Amino acid sequence: MSIPGKLVPEALKTLGKDNATVSYPKDKRTMPERFRGAVEFEPEPCTGCGMCERHCAADAIIVESDADGNVTWSYDVAKCMFCGQCEESCPTDAIVMGKEFELAASDKPSFEEHYTFER
Ligand code: SF4
Ligand code: SF4
Repeated sequence: MSIPGKLVPEALKTLGKDNATVSYPKDKRTMPERFRGAVEFEPEPCTGCGMCERHCAADAIIVESDADGNVTWSYDVAKCMFCGQCEESCPTDAIVMGKEFELAASDKPSFEEHYTFER
């Protein structure tokens, strides 16, 4: 039986190196610095300006205001494309792209986040 010409050299290259894969979910990799997971929102700096909603191509963010000055900021991770545009558009750094990527859920409400606060 002949050994395929490329197999042995390729196998030898991996000797002494770490495994290319991990035993997920038991082991988890640290996400790279620029990885974009689920959006994280901080109500305190949010002015309710709505820029994040206007610039979100996936309609994943809704910003609503009522006559009493209450703002409701809502996010649907099931619609989110993790593009990072909302983070770039927010003038007050109320939004950052988080590192969370384990986002599976069995019911739709679990994908949604709602924050209501006064402005
Ligand atoms: S990351 Fe992109 S798709 Fe997701 S909420 Fe922000 S702008 Fe919308
Ligand atoms: S999160 Fe930022 S962009 Fe969105 S409404 Fe609040 S201040 Fe405006």
